[in-house]
Amino acid sequence: MHKKLFIPGPTEVRQDVLEKMATAMIGHRTTDATELQRNISDKLRQLMYTKNEILLSTSSGSGLMEGSVRSCTARRAAVFSIGAFGDRWFKMCEANGVPADKFSSELGQITAPEEVDAALATGKYDVITITHNETATGVANPLAELAAVINKYPDVIWLVDAVSSLGGDKIEVDELGIDICITSSQKCMGLPPGLAFCSVSERAYERTKDVKNRGSYFDIAELYRFIKEKPYQYPSTPSLPHMFALDYQMDRILEEGLDARFERHATMAKRVQDWAKEHFALYSDPNHLSQTVTCITNTKDFDFSEFNGKLGERGFAISNGYGALKGKTFRIAHMGDVTMQDIDELLTVIDDVVKEM
Ligand SMILES: *Cc1c(COP(=O)(O)O)cnc(C)c1O
Repeated sequence: MHKKLFIPGPTEVRQDVLEKMATAMIGHRTTDATELQRNISDKLRQLMYTKNEILLSTSSGSGLMEGSVRSCTARRAAVFSIGAFGDRWFKMCEANGVPADKFSSELGQITAPEEVDAALATGKYDVITITHNETATGVANPLAELAAVINKYPDVIWLVDAVSSLGGDKIEVDELGIDICITSSQKCMGLPPGLAFCSVSERAYERTKDVKNRGSYFDIAELYRFIKEKPYQYPSTPSLPHMFALDYQMDRILEEGLDARFERHATMAKRVQDWAKEHFALYSDPNHLSQTVTCITNTKDFDFSEFNGKLGERGFAISNGYGALKGKTFRIAHMGDVTMQDIDELLTVIDDVVKEM
């Protein structure tokens, strides 16, 4: 039996979107491939509120996280971490020999704009990384407040991990001044895993020229040049099935309406948060809760695997806590194409299962 996914990726994929993955192949050097990638870029620019170029990567989002920090850091990166995924970005720096310092917030808390200001004021950094939506804790960083500080330092390239929020939460890339905004196909975008995409500012591209060893497959400059010069092609063979599905899914997203889509996510988040407060407790800072995933403290101290097993028998799956929070918390994702009705069904089933625990 298929379990309906309320995990923070991969999320449920609609049948019509899945079927687009089975489109007959085309050559990746044809004008049809160029047209496909150009259409995808035009639609993603609307979703990201940007005029910047869009790069695709046949990888999960981690590929572009690694590629962007490596390709844009000429001196030193300030990596701000509010949990597992900020930590991952720092690990990537270390593994690639990219000079970096990590600034960590307490789990469940945001990145404090004053701390960003203090770090950038040292003049040591030419890149900053921010996790928009920390999937491990269900915290959304306040991008507008962070932007106000970061934009005081025009030489610092701003990279944002929006893997678990783009498509479910409004991110106005140009207004905020984000240089590279990254997401994956399998979260709020409601597609199968395997493709990542990002917006890239001209400034970020210019910076790559000062960086010697940018790697190859995830070299942002190389991906950018193929967009500009070919145009709208991909250096190696891309996942065309994902591109067919993404092109189609973007039509659906724009048809739903961006504001309506974000509003749906906000409404689902509120419903899950209210339920969690009534039956359990919210793990994170109540003033900065994520619109796409909720992290709930397991106040009843039940065994999560047994709990999720029972949910599975009824056709639903949620997630354990991540990393240090495993067992102590569990997570419900409300992202992608799930509806309020799906959330209501899930919570009713969870209420029944809780009684059996
Ligand atoms: C899932 C996730 C990632 C990793 O994305 P992949 O597509 O699995 O590589 C990074 N950051 C955040 C915030 C995530 O939720």
